[in-house]
Amino acid sequence: MKIYYPIQELEATGIVTAGVSLRHGGVSRSPYASLNLAEHVGDDPNTVAANRSLFFQQTGLADLHYCRQIHSTEVIDVREEVPAIPEPRPEADALVSARCGVTLGIFTADCVPVFILDVATPAIGIVHAGWRGTLAGIAVNAFTRMETLFGTLATNCQIHLGPSIQKCCYTVSTELLDQFTERFGSTVRNGTNLSLQAANINQLTEIGLPRTSILVSPFCTACRTDLFYSHRAENGRTGRMLSFIRLNTEN
Ligand SMILES: [Zn+2]
Repeated sequence: MKIYYPIQELEATGIVTAGVSLRHGGVSRSPYASLNLAEHVGDDPNTVAANRSLFFQQTGLADLHYCRQIHSTEVIDVREEVPAIPEPRPEADALVSARCGVTLGIFTADCVPVFILDVATPAIGIVHAGWRGTLAGIAVNAFTRMETLFGTLATNCQIHLGPSIQKCCYTVSTELLDQFTERFGSTVRNGTNLSLQAANINQLTEIGLPRTSILVSPFCTACRTDLFYSHRAENGRTGRMLSFIRLNTEN
């Protein structure tokens, strides 16, 4: 069994390795069983370290850059002159890079991991979009940063919204639903449930990303706790998947 779920549409370009870790194959015990890759959720740090080395060994990935996620709109540019992100890790919710060989990662268990690939430059981005980040426009912020830093064009991008809680399971308060409907329109609404995916699609197409270049994972994390962690379905105490993207070539 593969240790991660590959984002095939992105990997098919031949220039990136991209995927989301699955919850199996690690050494964490319940409620983090078993491949929890995040340090901040209350799991034993030694166990998380063991899971990470297992994961890196089996995927061949190294030099992981990630941030302390705070549901913000902050974006980090991982540049050539930065060999590794120092401790304490910077607070942010997205990372972008045009540097070959670095792996950008974010941790989720219901929030939307947004993968951005600019196939022309090439350049990459990864975003942690929960409801706060989505409402505040974190995915747009990450794209805009790529535009500024790398000259990324919307028409050259492929976007993938990874495994996350979907409108079948994401019941929210009326207040929050109203806030989203007001900002993004009625397509984000499914009865009393919210579609974070629709809200992200809405804000990205609004700034010129072609709808056909945005793909959504078929997996709802709350429906598929056999494969993924779900904060909502597991009552707030669970592990995190790592969504990652690595640029394998550069101009
Ligand atoms: Zn569901």
